[in-house]
Amino acid sequence: MATIPILDLLTEKDVEKLASRSHLRFGKQIIKNGTITITNSNMFRRIAVVKYKNNPLQTVEFLSDNKGLHYKCSCTNKKHFFCEHCAAVALSLMPGK
Ligand SMILES: [Zn+2]
Repeated sequence: MATIPILDLLTEKDVEKLASRSHLRFGKQIIKNGTITITNSNMFRRIAVVKYKNNPLQTVEFLSDNKGLHYKCSCTNKKHFFCEHCAAVALSLMPGK
Protein backbone atom coordinates (compact mmCIF):
# COMPACT_ATOMS: atom_id res chain seq x y z
CA MET A 1 0.00 0.00 0.00
CA ALA A 2 1.34 3.40 -0.95
CA THR A 3 1.85 6.02 1.66
CA ILE A 4 -0.74 8.76 1.49
CA PRO A 5 0.13 12.39 2.25
CA ILE A 6 -1.11 13.49 5.67
CA LEU A 7 -3.33 16.21 4.30
CA ASP A 8 -5.29 13.64 2.30
CA LEU A 9 -5.94 11.68 5.50
CA LEU A 10 -6.97 14.66 7.56
CA THR A 11 -9.83 16.25 5.75
CA GLU A 12 -12.53 17.93 7.78
CA LYS A 13 -14.63 14.76 7.52
CA ASP A 14 -11.80 12.58 8.80
CA VAL A 15 -11.19 14.87 11.73
CA GLU A 16 -14.88 14.89 12.59
CA LYS A 17 -14.78 11.11 12.66
CA LEU A 18 -11.61 10.89 14.74
CA ALA A 19 -12.34 13.55 17.32
CA SER A 20 -15.27 13.71 19.68
CA ARG A 21 -17.48 16.77 19.45
CA SER A 22 -16.11 18.27 22.63
CA HIS A 23 -12.52 17.76 21.48
CA LEU A 24 -13.38 19.39 18.18
CA ARG A 25 -14.93 22.33 19.93
CA PHE A 26 -11.94 22.69 22.23
CA GLY A 27 -9.59 22.32 19.25
CA LYS A 28 -11.27 25.25 17.53
CA GLN A 29 -10.84 27.34 20.68
CA ILE A 30 -7.16 26.48 20.73
CA ILE A 31 -6.82 27.69 17.13
CA LYS A 32 -8.58 30.91 18.02
CA ASN A 33 -6.91 31.69 21.34
CA GLY A 34 -3.75 29.62 21.36
CA THR A 35 -0.61 29.18 19.33
CA ILE A 36 0.29 26.27 17.09
CA THR A 37 3.89 26.09 15.96
CA ILE A 38 4.86 23.58 13.32
CA THR A 39 8.32 22.33 14.20
CA ASN A 40 8.75 19.61 11.63
CA SER A 41 6.82 19.16 8.47
CA ASN A 42 6.78 17.22 5.25
CA MET A 43 4.13 15.39 3.24
CA PHE A 44 4.08 12.41 5.57
CA ARG A 45 5.01 13.75 8.94
CA ARG A 46 3.99 16.80 10.87
CA ILE A 47 5.02 17.79 14.37
CA ALA A 48 3.52 20.78 16.09
CA VAL A 49 3.74 22.38 19.50
CA VAL A 50 0.48 23.63 20.94
CA LYS A 51 0.30 26.42 23.46
CA TYR A 52 -3.02 27.30 25.01
CA LYS A 53 -3.27 29.91 27.73
CA ASN A 54 -1.24 28.84 30.76
CA ASN A 55 -1.48 25.13 30.08
CA PRO A 56 1.71 23.14 29.58
CA LEU A 57 2.98 22.95 26.01
CA GLN A 58 1.88 19.82 24.21
CA THR A 59 3.53 18.21 21.23
CA VAL A 60 1.39 16.60 18.57
CA GLU A 61 2.75 14.31 15.92
CA PHE A 62 1.00 13.08 12.80
CA LEU A 63 2.61 10.39 10.71
CA SER A 64 1.46 8.66 7.58
CA ASP A 65 3.06 5.38 6.57
CA ASN A 66 2.05 2.30 4.63
CA LYS A 67 -0.22 1.27 7.51
CA GLY A 68 -2.15 4.53 7.45
CA LEU A 69 -2.38 7.50 9.75
CA HIS A 70 -0.79 7.62 13.19
CA TYR A 71 -1.19 10.38 15.70
CA LYS A 72 0.14 11.04 19.12
CA CYS A 73 -0.01 13.84 21.66
CA SER A 74 2.15 14.44 24.70
CA CYS A 75 -0.95 15.09 26.85
CA THR A 76 -1.86 11.40 26.97
CA ASN A 77 -0.35 7.93 26.81
CA LYS A 78 -3.54 6.51 25.39
CA LYS A 79 -3.22 5.09 21.95
CA HIS A 80 -5.61 6.17 19.24
CA PHE A 81 -6.85 9.03 21.35
CA PHE A 82 -7.55 12.06 19.21
CA CYS A 83 -7.38 14.80 21.82
CA GLU A 84 -8.16 18.50 21.51
CA HIS A 85 -4.52 19.23 20.58
CA CYS A 86 -4.66 16.72 17.73
CA ALA A 87 -7.92 18.30 16.63
CA ALA A 88 -6.44 21.82 16.75
CA VAL A 89 -3.35 20.87 14.75
CA ALA A 90 -5.35 18.84 12.23
CA LEU A 91 -7.85 21.66 11.70
CA SER A 92 -5.09 24.23 11.37
CA LEU A 93 -3.45 22.20 8.60
CA MET A 94 -6.47 22.37 6.38
CA PRO A 95 -6.23 24.52 3.29
CA GLY A 96 -7.82 27.88 3.79
CA LYS A 97 -7.34 27.87 7.58
ZN1 LIG B 1 -3.32 16.42 23.54
